[in-house]
Formats: sequence, structure tokens, C-alpha cells
Amino acid sequence: MQVVVSFPDVTQATLELRMSRSSPGRYSLHDFAKNVYDVHAFDNNGRELETARPDPYGWNVSGNGGTVTVRYKVYGDRVDGTYLAVDTTHAHINMPSALMWAHGLDDRPATLVFEQPAGMAWHVATQLHPGATPFEFTAPNLQYLMDSPAEFGPFALREFTVGPRTFRVALHHTGTDADADAFAKDAEKIVRQEGAVYGEYPVYEPGSYTFLIDYLPYADGDGMEHRNSTVITSSLASGRARLDDTIAHEFFHGWNVERIRPQGLEPFDFDRANVTDSLWLAEGFTQYYGPLTLQRAGLADVASTARTLARLVDAVVNDPGRSVRSAADMSRMAPFIDGGRASDRTNWTNTVISYYTFGGAIAAALDLTLRDRTDSRVSLDDYMRAMWQTYGKPGGSREGYVDRPYTIGDAEETLAKVSGDRAFAHEFFAKYIEGHDVADYARLLARAGLTLRKQYPGRAWLGNLQLQSREGTRVRTLVAPNWPVYAAGLEQDDDVRELGGQRINGDNDVGAVLGRHKPGDRISIAFVDRTGRTKTATILLAENPQLEIVPVDSPTDAQKKFRDAWLNPRP
Ligand SMILES: [Zn+2]
Ligand SMILES: [Zn+2]
Repeated sequence: MQVVVSFPDVTQATLELRMSRSSPGRYSLHDFAKNVYDVHAFDNNGRELETARPDPYGWNVSGNGGTVTVRYKVYGDRVDGTYLAVDTTHAHINMPSALMWAHGLDDRPATLVFEQPAGMAWHVATQLHPGATPFEFTAPNLQYLMDSPAEFGPFALREFTVGPRTFRVALHHTGTDADADAFAKDAEKIVRQEGAVYGEYPVYEPGSYTFLIDYLPYADGDGMEHRNSTVITSSLASGRARLDDTIAHEFFHGWNVERIRPQGLEPFDFDRANVTDSLWLAEGFTQYYGPLTLQRAGLADVASTARTLARLVDAVVNDPGRSVRSAADMSRMAPFIDGGRASDRTNWTNTVISYYTFGGAIAAALDLTLRDRTDSRVSLDDYMRAMWQTYGKPGGSREGYVDRPYTIGDAEETLAKVSGDRAFAHEFFAKYIEGHDVADYARLLARAGLTLRKQYPGRAWLGNLQLQSREGTRVRTLVAPNWPVYAAGLEQDDDVRELGGQRINGDNDVGAVLGRHKPGDRISIAFVDRTGRTKTATILLAENPQLEIVPVDSPTDAQKKFRDAWLNPRP
């Protein structure tokens, strides 16, 4: 893509042009300068100016005065919520991946003009403010500009209104008009149920909220929230249920994270990664409301919602990471794990639980606990509404900013108010958010007629070991300290030769041996470690701890009442 950016009335002796290192809503670094080339800067009179490279991310232009115009090319071929994708079907533009900006000019408004490629009849969908022509848009400042992705292509457009608010679905896909209608209908159901949680919609600054959806065989699976829009991308394989779940997650962010904003994310820093201790709330609670909304909107049934909850609860109960890092600590790991790829090995499978999962499980615990304490009169919906009223609704004195971002202390204080019990709020935060405890999910879920139980009772287990049969029987998983095989001294990269006296050629053989034993049995293991030494040991087999959640066969009236108050459609 060819880009031309003009900066009028430059007064700095050196104009520091930058490509972002980060992207709003994605918490890791991306260094978008890597795909920029053929960079040239010009003065008022079209004379080329010298550019210097102070670091890998920027170009400094000196000796100007007046207008500086920079021209460059940028490459992009990834359809998702962070990067740039340009081909003959569209230009899918996440602004940080495409636009050069300059230090010190954050408060300046910007005008963006899209140029129709020869022979195309593309349109633009974006949360940017409409300008003089269908291809011209404006942003009030840099924060808003960078937060405003644009889909430039031949998308199908659907519109619906809820109360005074207008919602647009811009769908770039390979399906039929009927498919587009169906997606828009699902989106409307989701929008209505989530609006009911808060009792109102935010004021969407451009006059509407836009779903920018790329449902294409060459798209990556992703969703990314913005103030007045969201990017949702998916390959055709993942199907409509998955897409609905993403719509529900991203739209909930219009309140939770875009406006109810953790202090660490405000304002967004394009030069370095932001860090916050509150993604368990910003992402985790949103993760919980996704499937809950699908259930309330009639797009999922109780059994499937229970399966989704089980994945959250199982991780928090069984993953060893909980004893290493609290939910607040996991949040601070986001810059390393959200789209960041380590080429060196990490021990994250033993020390990290995603803040989506962890926070989702905390949300479930808090929602059920509040309902349990109050005979369903108070719930997480009340908590979210209180956070909205106090921290989200007041908005920002400048568009694209949030004037009252919350701290973890504010989040606790809000729980004290909503529950009317300061000691309860303090204990909940100390135990489950800043501590390492796990809620009594079995008791809480039983209130709603859901049973939390072991999915494979009586089945012998030595750990969730995975072998790489292609290269023999090398252990390709990090061995967790809570697996029986850990005590036997087995480690990643060891080569398993024998188990229970039987020769092992792959994962299936391990499964077969385990099938002949029960929890409590002791079996032998022989393996060769990475130095080539052969070792033997004894494994004390445990019961497979994997959890599932299933609806009880005949719920009592009290359970039905509790479940309905929780899962039924909001009026
Ligand atoms: Zn597209
Ligand atoms: Zn999210």
C-alpha cells in the first residue's frame, strides 16, 4: 500500500516520525516498522529532506519548517484485528500497522482519504467520522485515529437500530445475502442482551457502532475491540457459533475496556507496551459474558454453556499456574503472551493461566456468589452496571480518552458498594484476584442445578503427557509438578521407552497401558534422558482430575428459579 502523510505547520526542529510498536487492545509489541520501506520525506516545496534513523521504529526529519510530507510503502498480508492486509479483494487496515505519525502532535485532528484502486468499486466501513466525500474521514486526535480500523472493499452492509442507537454490520465474505442477513440477526440479538446488562448503550461518537467482519478462507481467527467498532475475522472453517461468540465478546468491550477502562491502558502508548493488573476484569469478565450472552440470546443451550464454563473452571482448579501467579499477575504477563511469540522456551504451561480463562472463572464465581448471597437479587450484571455508571459513563473530555480509568482498588470498592459488604469484597479480592485460592465452584453451580464433577472418574492418570511419536517417543510437553509422572523424574525431551513393563511407541500405547490400571496403582517407567542416560522409576497413578459441568437430570424448583434468573433472556 502506498501511503502519503502530510504534517502541516510543523514547528519542531526535528520531526520524529514513528511507526507504532503496539496496537490498541493487543497487549504485546508488534513493531510495525518492519514492513515499511521506500520512505521519503519532502518539505513545502517538494524538496526531499534527509531522514535519520534514531532507532528501528522511527525516522527523524530535520531542517524543515512548515509542511512535511512523508511517502512510503507498507506491506501487509494478515487479515485480523492487528495487522494490515492488502490484496485484490480488499484493504483491511488496522491503523497502527499502516500509518506513520509524529511525536508531539497527538492532539491534532487528522483527515484520511482513501484512493479507489483502478477498476474497483470499493466502499469504506470505519468508526472514523464521515468527511466531505464517501472516501474522506476525520479523527479528532491520534488516539482515536489509531483506534479506528477501516475495511476498504466490497462488503455487504446491514443496519439495525435498538432504541436511539444505530448498529452497522459490514460483512466481507464469500457467502450469500441470506448468510449476511443471518449474521446481522444474531448480532442484533447479542446487542440487545448486552444492552440489557447495562441498561443503556454508550454514546457512539460517529453516530453508530460498526461490526467490521471479514469472514474469509484466508482470514485468521480474531476479534479486536475499539470504541465504536470491532474487527472480527474468521476463516470459513470455524463456523457461525464461533463467530457469534466473538461478536458477543467484542461488543461487550464497548463498555468493558473501551469505556470502563483499567488505568494501565489509558492512554494507549504507541511507543511501548501498556501494562495493567486488571485484565482478569477487562478481558476475563468479557470472556464470561460472551457465552452467557449467547445463552440469554437463545443462541446456545444450557449444556453447551456448561461445557464452556467447565473449560474455565477446570483450568483454574487444575492448572499449576494458579499457585505461581495471581490473576492480577497474569494480567501483567499480557505483553508477553498476547500475540507475542517467544523463540526461547518458557515454562508458561506450568506458570501462566490466560487472564481470559482465569478472569472468566472469577467472573463466574463472583456472579454465582452474589446471586447465592442475595437470593438472586444482586448479580454480576449489577456490578458491571455500577462500574459503568462510575467509571465508564462519565466519558472523556477529549474524544477517544477516558477521564476516570479504574484501579484494582476501585474495582474492589465497587464490589463493596454493590454487595453492601466491604469485608466480603475485600476477602474476594484478596483470595481470588490477588491471592491463589479457588472458589467452591461445585457448591455455587449446584445452586443452578449444574453438577461439577470429574469427567473421567476411576480413570488412571499420570499427567497430560504428550509424546512426539515422529521422532520416537520424546516428551514434547513441559512436565507439570502436579502430574504423577513428575515425581518419577520425567522431563521434557526425555524419551519414554517402557511403561508398566510394556514397550512404548507413542501416545496410544500410553493410553493402552493406563487403560489396564486404576488410580492408586504403581507402575514402572523406563526412559532415556537428554544426556542419553537410561533411568527407571515408579509412578503412583492418580485419578484423571479433568472436570466437566453437566445439568442435573431433574432440577428442583429452587434450582430452576436460580438458573432462570441467571440464564434467561433479559427483558
Ligand atoms: Zn475485508
Ligand atoms: Zn477481548
